[in-house]
Amino acid sequence: MEDWRRIPAEGFTYVGYRRKSTVKDKTLRNTLREIVSGKVLFDEPMSRHTSMRVGGPADALVFPDNLDALGKVFKLLQHLRMPFIPIGNGTNLIVKDGGYRGALISLKDIKSIRLEERGAAQVALYADAGIALSEIVLLAAGKSLTGMEFCAGIPGTVGGAVRMNAGAWGTELKDAVDSVELMNGSGDIRRCKRETLNFSYRNLEITNNAIITRASFLLVRGIKKQIQDRITEIMGMRKAKHPLEYHNAGSIFKNPRGGIPAGQIIDELGLKGTQVGGAKISEKHGNFILNVSNAKAGDILTLIDMVKNKVRQYRGIDLETEVKIIGED
Ligand SMILES: Cc1cc2nc3c(=O)[nH]c(=O)nc-3n(C[C@H](O)[C@H](O)[C@H](O)COP(=O)(O)OP(=O)(O)OC[C@H]3O[C@@H](n4cnc5c(N)ncnc54)[C@H](O)[C@@H]3O)c2cc1C
Repeated sequence: MEDWRRIPAEGFTYVGYRRKSTVKDKTLRNTLREIVSGKVLFDEPMSRHTSMRVGGPADALVFPDNLDALGKVFKLLQHLRMPFIPIGNGTNLIVKDGGYRGALISLKDIKSIRLEERGAAQVALYADAGIALSEIVLLAAGKSLTGMEFCAGIPGTVGGAVRMNAGAWGTELKDAVDSVELMNGSGDIRRCKRETLNFSYRNLEITNNAIITRASFLLVRGIKKQIQDRITEIMGMRKAKHPLEYHNAGSIFKNPRGGIPAGQIIDELGLKGTQVGGAKISEKHGNFILNVSNAKAGDILTLIDMVKNKVRQYRGIDLETEVKIIGED
């Protein structure tokens, strides 16, 4: 019998470790420690794991370091109907100050990468969900492969970037993706070809609870110097436009369809520089909220609400957040 089946699901109500400590919770903790070959943290402040540096404790934050362990954790949590969310590098994530009741599964420690020749001109790059985009950009450039330069400076992992259909400078992940591998609740992995996937602006539609375990990208042989020059150019543009001196989560809001960019609207309404607690709307780029001084998630959420209200009131536009907000107040 697999380890996790030792915990009977019947009558198990997950209430959060910090709220109520039961024997079952202890068993659950021990089981998680046993089946996750990697790091397992309990009551872990998420401010340590998000680029915004805010967020209360997650009941459990687990780092399975292989697909077998990931499958077991996935099955255990589903068996117990315990809430969970897969995460990557936490660069598009705001965890509320009350933390997250359930388990956050970080894919950061699942990270192999390989190249496969596809005829004379193309190469497929297979990367596990935990691989950093920056690693792919560097590897591709080093091998004179073009197609991933637009990702230079995006601080996410493959899993987070594919889920978000991350993009910059007019190109999105969907333009480079050849296939995506998804783990379902039974721990089975299915490879989906690009044409079967439903990508849209900052989103890949996946079934509830599916976890992205790997993606492949189609790259084309190019000229190393040109690829490296483009990366240098992009990094220069980022430095010039983005307020990278403070902790942040990139663009807070999606750009409204067919209209003016969210940052420009915020600028035109005179909201740049507005500060609540330790969080401030950047003076340099209106779509960035910065953690300028020990901000709480609540400060950031107050600013987000204020911006949304003003933009609705004065422009009649409902801004949607690009950052994912999880947890409880
Ligand atoms: C300085 C800065 C610059 C940025 N620039 C850009 C930019 O130019 N373009 C852009 O698009 N974004 C940008 N971002 C935002 C962010 O880096 C991207 O969205 C990135 O792709 C998120 O990856 P992550 O690994 O950090 O994901 P996380 O923040 O950890 O997660 C993001 C979402 O993906 C889900 N997720 C993560 N991993 C998986 C998985 N394996 N399976 C299923 N779901 C998963 C999470 O549940 C969450 O909903 C920027 C952020 C910063 C801080």
